[in-house]
Amino acid sequence: MKFYELSECFRKLEATTKRLDMFNILSETLAKIPKEDIAKAVYMLQETLLPPFFNVQLGVADKMAEKAIAEAYGISLEKIEKMYKERGDLGNVAEELNGKDKGSALTISQVYDKLMDIAQTSGEGSVDKKIKVISDLLKEASGLESKYIVRFMLGKLRLGVGEATIMEALSMAKLHKRDFKVELERAFNLCSNLGKVAEVFYREGEKGVMDFKIETMEPIRPALAERLPSAEEIIKKLGKCAVDQKFDGFRAQVHKDGDKVKVYSRNLEDITSYMPEITDAVRKLKIKKIIFDSEALTYDDETNTLYPFQITIQRKRKHNVEEVSQNFPLRLFVFDIMLLDDAQLINEPYSKRRETLERIFQKEGTISKSSIIITDNPKEFDKFFEITVGNGLEGVVAKKLDAPYAAGARNFNWVKLKRSYKSRLDDTIDTVILGYFKGKGLRADLGIGALLVGVYDEKADMFRTIAKVGSGFSEEQFKELRKILDDEKVDKKPARVDSILVPDVWVEPKYVIAIKADEITKSPIHTCGAKEGVGYALRFPRAVTFIRTDKKAEDTNTVKEIEEMFEEQKRVKV
Ligand code: ATP
Repeated sequence: MKFYELSECFRKLEATTKRLDMFNILSETLAKIPKEDIAKAVYMLQETLLPPFFNVQLGVADKMAEKAIAEAYGISLEKIEKMYKERGDLGNVAEELNGKDKGSALTISQVYDKLMDIAQTSGEGSVDKKIKVISDLLKEASGLESKYIVRFMLGKLRLGVGEATIMEALSMAKLHKRDFKVELERAFNLCSNLGKVAEVFYREGEKGVMDFKIETMEPIRPALAERLPSAEEIIKKLGKCAVDQKFDGFRAQVHKDGDKVKVYSRNLEDITSYMPEITDAVRKLKIKKIIFDSEALTYDDETNTLYPFQITIQRKRKHNVEEVSQNFPLRLFVFDIMLLDDAQLINEPYSKRRETLERIFQKEGTISKSSIIITDNPKEFDKFFEITVGNGLEGVVAKKLDAPYAAGARNFNWVKLKRSYKSRLDDTIDTVILGYFKGKGLRADLGIGALLVGVYDEKADMFRTIAKVGSGFSEEQFKELRKILDDEKVDKKPARVDSILVPDVWVEPKYVIAIKADEITKSPIHTCGAKEGVGYALRFPRAVTFIRTDKKAEDTNTVKEIEEMFEEQKRVKV
């Protein structure tokens, strides 16, 4: 299919703020895309070349794009810079200078492959090579096409379509019904690669999707935990269950196939290179193929204690990984297993998976297993909880004995209990930044004084507001935030955002921050969980983290969780 037709789809998506219109535009376009192009088109709709675990980055910044535009259209760099300042969008600058109305002969595949070439060009002279490829592409493209090529390269396409919407639209496009989305989602949860799922669907139809299996080197979307306030309630809900230690490190999903080892983060990025000591230990396991779920922590062998989270997380920032890995070696605590050789364990009950895990990970060392008890007695549960917390861990995660591994889902198969839920709202809430308000008084100079934040509504694939946060940031952090957010600025409320408040600047929902608050209250000015005009809000919200890089917009706490937390809070109060 011609890239021109995809560009038309982008143009229409950009022009509407109505969810239903967006859905129709998307499904009509997807219906026309042939199977050869569907994966590439889906990636482009997701504003990426490949899923995050491929670690493919375009590496095109404003300056490079300006040079390429200048070269393509024979205009001086100064003029381009001036136009950019005036228009505020390099895509618009390219479209204007290009001037061609008629769609070009470029196909989706050709554009995608050229962009991939750019991403894979590195080393000496790579900047010039990239500029040449981009300018050739821009010369060939039409005005509209060049606008979207430029925006895509700069990560500023901002179509505002979520994964959930793409899956529903794929179902509509091929089968004229929405509900095959459920199967597409299941397949997506198993491989975290929406382009691949779409291609299998287009090539092999419904059966191909239904037969989807997990494979090594394709990360599974992690299972997540619900929360309940006490051992009694957990046992009431799960019956006899396993109570597992909850470690406060970072999540590591490990894949091994022969000598090949990969480690994926909670966010499904490939973090293998951060953990040489772990990959060595995994390689030594006498198992051909395995996928397991674990938490990585820094362990002090001298004192046999765990280091605090801050030490563990250093790993992701430090460049001298080798040195850090010697001084503060990581340990993995394995708590689940999803694949062993040719056996897909993901749908086996927890008790069976745990048996397998116990059999494989017997020794203590770099790779250890978590310790569990199995009980239906709240007193025993509480005793294990107290001992665990006493050992410096964060709490426990209860696991339903007969439940499968719920890839990509947060449900009551796993229920977390931390010390903090027992009192007031001590746990943090992950929110996504939707916009900011310019500062007043002392903050006027900074040009930013408060953030509008929201949480994800899974059912509607929307973001709904929950708080306006002005405290918790230093002046320096505010300055940095402003820089980061200005880069994500959009001129109107994104289609997936539901808000009554109107910030001075709207941003693309992308950055997650953790908020602490005194309690969840009802409020008419926030849209989270709103019924008859009254939603939920956070009372006295304050930021406790800067931007969380391990989560994306859809990984915030959800509207449903906020509703549940509100209910729990009521119970704890009485
Ligand atoms: P979430 O990952 O649930 O979105 P979060 O990042 O705020 O939320 P918590 O709510 O504190 O984290 O707890 C969930 C996380 O706990 C898991 O993602 C996992 O990384 C970690 N964890 C530690 N030990 C275990 C365990 N035994 N079983 C499951 N998860 C565990």
